[in-house]
Order: sequence, then structure tokens, then C-alpha cells
Amino acid sequence: MIDARNLSKAYGEVQALDDVSFEVAEGEIVGLLGPNGAGKTTAIKILTGYLQPDEGSVTIDGLDVLTHTLEVQARIGYLPENAPLYPELSVQKYLLLIADLRQIPAADRILRLSEAVHATSLTEYLARPIGTLSKGLRQRVGLAQAILHQPRLLILDEPTVGLDPTQIVEIRRLIKRLAQHSTILFSTHILSEVEAICDRALILMNGQVRADARLSELEATSDAILVLQEKVKNVEGVLRGVPGVRDVEQLKSHDGFPAFRVLGAPKADLTPAVYALARDNNWPLRELRRDVRTLETVFNQLALSEEDDTSSADN
Ligand code: ATP
Repeated sequence: MIDARNLSKAYGEVQALDDVSFEVAEGEIVGLLGPNGAGKTTAIKILTGYLQPDEGSVTIDGLDVLTHTLEVQARIGYLPENAPLYPELSVQKYLLLIADLRQIPAADRILRLSEAVHATSLTEYLARPIGTLSKGLRQRVGLAQAILHQPRLLILDEPTVGLDPTQIVEIRRLIKRLAQHSTILFSTHILSEVEAICDRALILMNGQVRADARLSELEATSDAILVLQEKVKNVEGVLRGVPGVRDVEQLKSHDGFPAFRVLGAPKADLTPAVYALARDNNWPLRELRRDVRTLETVFNQLALSEEDDTSSADN
């Protein structure tokens, strides 16, 4: 449904996106997760045809966004970070205006409007001027306009930002309901939001995709963390020789002690084999533990290595 290739975008000196590529298949709910300034809004504006990349291309449902911008925009539902709502219009008048702009045939308008209003539980607010609604209700109006033309792809930029906890729960439920009929890509800087709603997380940091994780796979994966007292030659090479080891990553930020993440097959526990290896090779063991990967551990690890990279670049 979405195929983004090698997207780069700079604002003057700021490289907001740096060679970003990813795909989203039909029916997926994907969270674009990243801290403030990671480039989420820039990526979304490019995907929806509201901003041109400096380099790269995007196709949505097989159509090139750059050359078929209006056709693409007609197919997607988009909730921008600050949805342009008209405060003086009632919910109904606003949605009718959007139906007009979306060129929904007159005969279908009332049905589409009532479906969108029903899906977003706005029926009792139809006559209310938008300016008198709470932020959560306004966000629901934003979602109603995004789904009015029954798009197969919904792109939502930080849909829960600024909402209170009850409103957040409501919007998350709504997104899950909408996902029964549409592919959804939404951005957020809240980890638990991705865990609550998504099948998959794309982690964006400093304008780059740093991880692409399917949540079910992530939850089923457990690694061994090995920390040594001092450096030992070729630890990684020896660890890689252990049956069942998929990969070995050197970890940063373990108080200067050499540390490794040993990745195994899903649900495997590698700690006994790593322990036997450490004993047989007389490695000065400081710590050995099993570590079940969650989105939080992946995110924090990436954030830490990002900090290390930034501080070493600063030095
Ligand atoms: P947030 O969650 O804070 O909205 P984001 O992940 O959506 O962040 P972007 O808004 O895409 O990130 O911004 C990426 C980088 O580009 C940031 O450093 C931001 O300051 C910069 N940036 C974004 N828009 C502009 C602009 N119009 N002019 C100059 N710099 C910009």
C-alpha cells in the first residue's frame, strides 16, 4: 500500500529525513515512532503529497505521489498534526463542506456522513460549533473528515497528542476499529501507544529508520546479555559459533565494561550455552542474563546508541 524509497529532506542545515525507506502492506497498522524532531511529520507530509522530498520516491497503492498527487490525496484519509477545523462551523456543516471538497456524490453524502459520525461517536454533537468542542471531540471530528470518503489508507499525525488519558483511550479504540477496513500509518512519540494499537513499529531517529519491528516477533524474542570484567579477544567470533546464535551485537553504555547482546531464535534461552562458553574459555564474567526484547528495550537501546554517536561526534 505504501512504498517509500530513499526519502531525504533537508530544511536548510537540518537534515529532517536521511535516506528513509519502508513499505506498508495492505491491512497493516503501523506506528511511526520517534522522539520530537525525529522527522515523523516531514515523512507524513511527503507520503501525503504535501511536501516534496529532495530525493526519493513514494508510491501509494501503486501511484507515484509526486506525479499523481491529487489522485493519491483522493485515496487517502489524512489527519494532520493540527487539523484545519473551522471553529465557527457546526460539525455537520464542516463535514458537508469536506464531502463537497472530496467530491462525494450528492446522493451518497448523507449516508457517508452518518457512517463517519457513527464511527467517531459524534452523533450528539452534529449541531455544535466546532470551536465549542473539547480537544478530544475536535480530534474525533478530524478523524471523521479523514474517513468520510472511505479511504483504504489512513495516515494520522500524532492523533492523540494533547488529549487527556480518557480521550487517548477513546481515540486508540477508534483507530483500532477503523483498522478493520483500512490500512493505517500513524505517528507518535509514545511507546505504549504503538504497543496498544500496532502490528508493527518503524522507529525513526534523527531522520533515519533505525528499526522496523513486528511486535509479535519482538515479544517472542529473547536474547542473552553478557558483560565481561575486561576486554577479551574475539568474544564475538566465539559467540557466533554457538549453535542457535543468530547474531551478536556489541553494546554500549555498560559503565565501560565490554558488553554483548547475543541474539537467538524466538523463545530460545541462550544463557546456559553462553555460560558454558564463558567458563570453558575462562572469560572474566561480570554479568549474564536473559533479556526479553520489548519495544521499550529496543527503543531505549537505540536512543542510547544515538546519544553515544552524538556525543562522540561532538568530541
Ligand atoms: P515532532 O514530534 O516534534 O512534531 P517530528 O518527528 O514530527 O517532531 P519533524 O517535524 O518532521 O519531526 O521535524 C524534523 C526536523 O526538521 C526537526 O529538527 C525540525 O525542527 C525540523 N523542521 C521541521 N519543519 C521545518 C521547517 N519548516 N523549517 C525548518 N526546520 C524544520
